[in-house]
Order: sequence, then C-alpha cells, then structure tokens
Amino acid sequence: MEIPKEIQEIGGKLQEKGFEAYLVGGCVRDFLLGIEPKDWDIATNAKPEEVQKLFPDCVYENQFGTVGVKTDSSDRSLKIVEVTTYRSEGKYTDKRHPDEIKIAESIEEDLARRDFTVNAMALNLNPKPSLAGQATLNPEIVDPYGGQDDLKNRSIRAVGDADERFQEDALRLMRAVRFVAQLDFSLEEKTKAAVKNNSHLLEFISKERVRDEFSKLLLTEKAADGVREMQKLGLLKYVVPELEEGVGMGQNKHHIYTVFEHNVLSLQYAAEKNFTLDLRLASLLHDVGKPRTKRGEGPDSTFHGHQVVGEKMVLKILDRLRYPNDLTEKVALLVREHMFVYDPETVTDAGARRLIRRVGQENIDDLFKLREADRIGSGVPKAQPYRLRHLKFRIEKVSQDPISAKMLKVNGEDVMRAGIQPGPKIGYILAVLLEEVLDDPALNEKDLLNARIQDLAKLDERRLAEMAKFAKKSADEAQTRIEEEIKKKYFVK
Ligand code: ATP
Ligand code: MG
Repeated sequence: MEIPKEIQEIGGKLQEKGFEAYLVGGCVRDFLLGIEPKDWDIATNAKPEEVQKLFPDCVYENQFGTVGVKTDSSDRSLKIVEVTTYRSEGKYTDKRHPDEIKIAESIEEDLARRDFTVNAMALNLNPKPSLAGQATLNPEIVDPYGGQDDLKNRSIRAVGDADERFQEDALRLMRAVRFVAQLDFSLEEKTKAAVKNNSHLLEFISKERVRDEFSKLLLTEKAADGVREMQKLGLLKYVVPELEEGVGMGQNKHHIYTVFEHNVLSLQYAAEKNFTLDLRLASLLHDVGKPRTKRGEGPDSTFHGHQVVGEKMVLKILDRLRYPNDLTEKVALLVREHMFVYDPETVTDAGARRLIRRVGQENIDDLFKLREADRIGSGVPKAQPYRLRHLKFRIEKVSQDPISAKMLKVNGEDVMRAGIQPGPKIGYILAVLLEEVLDDPALNEKDLLNARIQDLAKLDERRLAEMAKFAKKSADEAQTRIEEEIKKKYFVK
C-alpha cells in the first residue's frame, strides 16, 4: 500500500515551509496493518491560521485546531484531509472533557494524549533525498509506546497508566472493546483489568458518544464477540442492562442456548451476513423481552408475549441511547413481528395480507432476515426452510395485482355508453376484452377498446355469454401461470 499522492503533497507543502507533518492515529495503525484507512489525519506544528494560509481551499470550524484541507480526489476518504495542530490535553475533572485543550510543541507530546499504543504512532511525511538524487517519501515511524509491537501481538494496550487513562475519559472503555472487535485483537492484561475496575465510569459519558462507539462495534465482523466482551468486562450493564437479564437464563426444550447467548448468536449471524445496523440491533434485541415474560422452569417454561414486551423495551433502550426515531421504530417493529407464523397449512392469503399491512411491504425482507438470524442463532441448521419460502411466495402472490377487469383502460360505463343496458352483458363484454388484452397488451388502448365494444355490442346475449365463459377460463389459466412462476422462484409447490 502507498501513501496517496494528495497526502504526500499536503505533507510536502507543510515541510517546504519549514513545518513538521506527520500522519497520526487510526490511519497509521491501519496502514501498518495493510488495511485501507477510512481517513487520513495529519498532525503538524503549524498553527491553524498558518495551515489555512497554505491551503486556502479549506474548511475551518475552529474546533480543536483541525483544518479540513480540500483535495480534488474522487476518493471519499481523501476529499477532505484533516490537518490538526499538535495538541495536548489538560486535566479531566469531569471524566469526559479535558478542562482545556492546549497546543503542544512536539509530535511526542501529541501522541501522549492518545488512547491506545496502536493509535499513538506517527509517520513522518518528510521527503528524503534518495540515491538517485530525487526526493522521495521515505517515511519514518515515531512510536514512543511500542505500538508496532502491539500490532504484531494483536494487542490493545493503553498509553501509559491504564487506570488513569480510563479515569480521564471513560469513553475509552468502549473504544477499547470496539477496537478489539474491529481489529480482531485482544485486550492486554493490565488494560483489561483497568476496564473492569473502571466500567462504572461509563455512566458519566454522554449517551451519544457511547452510542456511536456501540454502533461501530456492532458494525464489525466480530460484533458478537464484542458484545460478549462488553458483558464480561461489566460494560454492557451501562449500555444495554436489559440484555444482562438473559445472562445464564435457560430456555425451554426448543432451545439449547441461554437467552443471552441466543441473542448474541443471532447478532453473529447478522454480522456474518453483513446486515445493516438496524438488523444487527434487531437481531441482538429480538428476545430481550424473554426474561420478563418467562413462566415456569425447565423444558416446559414459556415466554408468551415476549415480542410485545420486547418491542416496548427496544423503544426504551434505543431512545435512551439517542438513536434516531426512524431507526428505533423500525427495530421495535421488527422485534414485535419476529414471531410471525409461516406454516403453509395455517397461513392464508388473507393472513399474508395482514402481515404485509402490519409490517409494511418495505420491511418484509428485513423481517425475514431477522427470522433467519433468529433460527441460525438458536442452532437450527437451515436458515430458510421450505415453510419460510412458502410464505415468501404467498406474500409476493398477494402483493401482485390479480388479473381483473380493473386492468383495462375502459370500464362498465364505457360499455353502457355504447348503448348496452345495465345487466349481465356488460360483464361479458369486459371479460372478453380482458382476455384479448391479456393475449396482446398493445390492445389496451381506450380508442381500440371502444371500437371493439361497438362490435361486441352487436352480438346477442347468448353468444356473448359463451365467449365470456371461454375468456374467463383463459384468464384463470393466465393467473395460474403467474402463480406457478412465483412458486418456481421460491422453489415451492
Ligand atoms: P477508525 O478507523 O475507526 O476511525 P480511529 O483510530 O481513527 O479509528 P477515531 O475515533 O477516528 O479512531 O480517532 C482518531 C484518533 O484520535 C485515534 O486513533 C486516537 O489516537 C485519538 N483518539 C480519539 N478518541 C480518543 C479518546 N477518547 N482518547 C484518546 N485518544 C483518542
Ligand atoms: Mg478515524
């Protein structure tokens, strides 16, 4: 992997003017791991005013000394490159905001404020003369805390004293677990012990910041391990305490996992399938209502109504975490409906229609995905058995407009305008027209149809009745053919 030329140019320009320029933070970590960084951050000893002067095409919101330098790259991660003046942070008296942000003198001082060793490395963007006499980028790494070793050991370790770092800013507790999941690393022992000791400090952190780290964790491939880790380290009870109620709680004869493990395994499936955040939340929370509805013990215990209790709990949980309303409502809806019946013997067309009405056509696919996650999470091998496919067929069938005279561009009134009195003849003529249009859709034009009505109106009632009977039969056959096609699509009989 190479450092993009836009970054090299910005670094080069700063250094030409006598400033220092380093890549810092997540991009250095990802770069060294061979992962494409999400964004590229530059740290410099140039003051924000000086950076703005050097790069007039920039955005500066006066926040923490970060200037967003615009490039003409088409790559999203390079459109705006953040250039931040070296900072050090003052004391944290409230455990979440440094009392002051000070400009720092050196890159080392800037790295000292960072959370984990793998995030506290810098890469000098200094071009060095090569043997050929040309200046080429020959980056050197500044790594005062052994971040490279920790990358090799796949370890998340706090910079300096772990207890102190978590006490300064307790969001780092969540960040520790999030990076473990995101990078598939493990927590270094002292850091891990410090997370456990300080887990209660998470309470002081704003819900929005916690939510953002929680979402990032859920969106990783190792989301399920991340949630298990949160639980073991005592963080989950400050984020979604409701999930803790299912820890160690056995289910009935239909289940081999505890409520908590089943929720987590459903999330695991959602993560493996790269489902979106709403579905990952729904998978993790779909049985959150079980502990409060459990009746009895052992193989015959029941959880009646857990989806309804679960829906209410989900609304509370996601509101509390300040998730946007539309996402909250969608997750709650999926949780409420996740128990839908899909036995072909039981589900009628009307039942399928009611399900669509309750869930909304736009959410049906996601509801099926949630059910898949639920099934796989319970240890049942097949995600989509015959019965589930059959319901899909049913839903598609009832979602399509059935073949009917409504498809015609004329109606009974047009027929009457041709001089036909109210009575059975009107229906016969429409049936004949429908059959002809099904045969050749190009005939479905008002003028053509009206001309045809004139012809048909001349025929006597008995003849029309016969033609209509034949027409209805072939319309029914067309309807059956359509249904056969949908059946084939879902491999059902
Ligand atoms: P990602 O790839 O997910 O963006 P990242 O490491 O870039 O990971 P950010 O949250 O974007 O994470 O933060 C950028 C850098 O800022 C981090 O690498 C770290 O050095 C520093 N940082 C961010 N938040 C904190 C914090 N709460 N405490 C200390 N340092 C932090
Ligand atoms: Mg980042």
